[in-house]
Amino acid sequence: MDSTSDRTPKGSQRSPKKTPQSSGKREKRNQKPNLHEVKNKGRRDRGKAEEEMTKKNMDSHEKPKAVGTGLVYSELFSRYRCLWDSSHPECPERVTTVVGMMETEGLLSRCLQVEARAASDDELSQVHTREYIDLMRSTEKMTEEELKCVSDRYDSVYLHPDLFSCACLAAGSVLQLVDKVMTSELRNGFAVSRPPGHHAQAEQMNGYCMFNNVAVAARYAQKQHGVQRVLIVDWDVHHGQGIQYAFQEDPSVLYFSVHRYEEGSFWPHLPEGDSSAVGSGPGEGYNINVPWIKTGMEDGDYIAAFQRILMPVAYEFQPQLVLVAAGFDSVAGDPKGEMCASPQCFSVLTHMLMGLAEGRIVLSLEGGYNLQATAEGACSSWRSLLGDPCPHLNSPGAPSESALTSISKTVSALYPFWDQLADSGGRLSF
Ligand SMILES: [Zn+2]
Repeated sequence: MDSTSDRTPKGSQRSPKKTPQSSGKREKRNQKPNLHEVKNKGRRDRGKAEEEMTKKNMDSHEKPKAVGTGLVYSELFSRYRCLWDSSHPECPERVTTVVGMMETEGLLSRCLQVEARAASDDELSQVHTREYIDLMRSTEKMTEEELKCVSDRYDSVYLHPDLFSCACLAAGSVLQLVDKVMTSELRNGFAVSRPPGHHAQAEQMNGYCMFNNVAVAARYAQKQHGVQRVLIVDWDVHHGQGIQYAFQEDPSVLYFSVHRYEEGSFWPHLPEGDSSAVGSGPGEGYNINVPWIKTGMEDGDYIAAFQRILMPVAYEFQPQLVLVAAGFDSVAGDPKGEMCASPQCFSVLTHMLMGLAEGRIVLSLEGGYNLQATAEGACSSWRSLLGDPCPHLNSPGAPSESALTSISKTVSALYPFWDQLADSGGRLSF
């Protein structure tokens, strides 16, 4: 399933201060490090990191800042739907409603439109096998019966003669934005595309996904733009196991997912969605799962997961590009997610991420099956990308007991690998 072992890009490197210490930390995993030592070391390293960041900020003042927020959207994204289930939730209206709301709210005219393009076989093959790409291409000429037959080989997918071309276009859309952002032509961007991608694997469709848009983009950024450290943030309510599989052995891509888990009883029902899945081999410590054990998680819970885990680790990792698997099935009202996060919360989460990687952030639409909630969540993210101030959250409140339990478990699993988490000794004080 994972064919990434030979794909670590040349020149990729670990977080600068992790090379010698990390292996030491791994050895110490079972014999917990002395808290005092760890704290002192964390302080020393943080001092160094702050010096480097100050220098970097001073350097960046000399360069003109990138401006503009790019939108990739094409009417072609609404060209396919499930032929044998007219009420299928992965429907064209998912994207048309987002763009419709952007227009009525005056956001569309503030974006710079970037043309969609199809990802090439070479680009897709950085994550997917050639055989799989060819099989997917062959579905363009299949009858409905044949399409049904191929769909049945996978979990939770349907095929359509136009799906392959749309999937190539969805993957290529993120690449277009990566180009613009990495060359400073644009400040940031958002691909309002379908099909989604974060469940797609090297040689498997899964969960409405054909190609892993964000994973392909991470590899492209490394190959095409020499990016050494990519952060992928996945706030879709489902665990993006496809992204995890692609990079779990690779320290050059840090994957963070916060998702509904409920001890594996929620789809995709995989134990690897749990907090104990921290990556393996050289990628150990670079896979972060925050699994919610209940539905109904609120703004304060999502913000706590970001503040307590993602942001400290991200500042230590120092990504050069942030990619977001932006699913809005975690917004209140989604029939699958059953969470209670407000649309405005995604404005705050986006805003937090914009402080990383000199603002180089690209969002790619993933799930979201309540059309109104998906559009509101997406528009909230747009407002932050466009530079609007963060909205007032009605009840950010303190994180719930359940959220604290999930967050603590994740910190416990990850603190041997990150100085910023080691400061807490694997425990949290709120
Ligand atoms: Zn989802």
